[in-house]
Amino acid sequence: MANKPKILLIYTGGTIGMIKDYTTGALKAFDFSQILEKIPELQHLNCEITTISFEEPIDSSNMNTSYYIKIAEIIAENYAAHDGFVVLTGSDTMSYTSSAISFMFENLQKPVIFTGSQLPIGDLRTDAKENLITSIEIACAREKEDEPIIKEVGLYFEYKLYRANRTTKINAEQFEAFNSMNYPPLAESGVHLHFNHHLLYKSNNKDTSLIFRKNLIDDVVVLKLFPGITSKVVETILNIPNLKGVILETYGSGNAPTESWFIDLLAAAIQKGIRIVNVTQCAGGSVILGLYETSTDLKRIGVINGKDITTETAVAKMMYLLGEELSDEDFKHYFELPLRGEISLQH
Ligand code: ASP
Repeated sequence: MANKPKILLIYTGGTIGMIKDYTTGALKAFDFSQILEKIPELQHLNCEITTISFEEPIDSSNMNTSYYIKIAEIIAENYAAHDGFVVLTGSDTMSYTSSAISFMFENLQKPVIFTGSQLPIGDLRTDAKENLITSIEIACAREKEDEPIIKEVGLYFEYKLYRANRTTKINAEQFEAFNSMNYPPLAESGVHLHFNHHLLYKSNNKDTSLIFRKNLIDDVVVLKLFPGITSKVVETILNIPNLKGVILETYGSGNAPTESWFIDLLAAAIQKGIRIVNVTQCAGGSVILGLYETSTDLKRIGVINGKDITTETAVAKMMYLLGEELSDEDFKHYFELPLRGEISLQH
């Protein structure tokens, strides 16, 4: 390779950026501009690393659409001058954030890898070093003619690289904090870094110029069904002022109560222009509208089929597509279509 790949490391906050003060035993924020001094291992990587840190790093529980835009703007402004991006956020909402970033960029030709850790980087037993070092290696990975191997938004944690918009945080304690039930890992890190080339995102688009969209609408809600849910609850939620989108978490393969009060409330909301998407509460598998009688009414009244999308990604896609101001028909069409590999084609 003629030049070393240039990697931009963006630190937004989260556990990874903490370091233990061994005199007091307390955890404190880590100055990421000094990362190369603090983690000398990074100097052995065959790349040039620059860092940008949020002035006030956040716990990812405080993440919102304005921070999504801030992260995406940093990537867009530095896109031409860098070969890859590693974004550090807290793991709690990393699946939501990385999914949103995947929609905000169309025609991405460079890797954007999200990572973080369960233990702070300054902790002796930390998982942060491996997550960070391998994420940077993935962001640097090139194939013939210097082409980046990854041209999508990934999430790397505990030896696995996933498509970010397929992930869910599944464990608050174990190092293996994420899973991707409906799509296998894009890469696995063992003695070698092994890429599953056939699973990587490949755009059919001939035009490779980056399109950046940042009009996100956050007037959305996740409505999780449970046995015994009352009409008062559903009615109140569907009448939230200015509500534009509902992620309806249904049972199994997209099933919901058949009682008329429930269907009538949803139908009235759809009539008012609220977009309602059916996703399953199950960790894996897909909504199949019309498979059971308990979902035929949903199909009839115009509920959108979320297929095998995760709730996290459905929220991100909803915010993104609402910002596109599409007709009802186009909204349904694009929601049900994989835009960044977030839905399986066979569905
Ligand atoms: N609460 C932290 C956060 O999401 C946890 C982590 O960093 O993993 O910001």
